[in-house]
Amino acid sequence: MSFRPTFDCLWCGARHVSRSPADLQGWAQLCSECVGRAGDNAFLRFRLKRALEERASAAGTGPADDAKP
Ligand SMILES: [Zn+2]
Repeated sequence: MSFRPTFDCLWCGARHVSRSPADLQGWAQLCSECVGRAGDNAFLRFRLKRALEERASAAGTGPADDAKP
């Protein structure tokens, strides 16, 4: 998936509006609350990992270290 500025959270369905194209939520398509609890949930953790990879490849740099908001 690619970055989306506005979306419904893939996990809980909450509406989210990204603040910037670097906003990890926009890449994961998960709301801030779900990103914050990715440690407890395999699906959320997977989406977050993919989001980091996709954002990094879009930026042409290595993985960022800001997985936690
Ligand atoms: Zn959510």
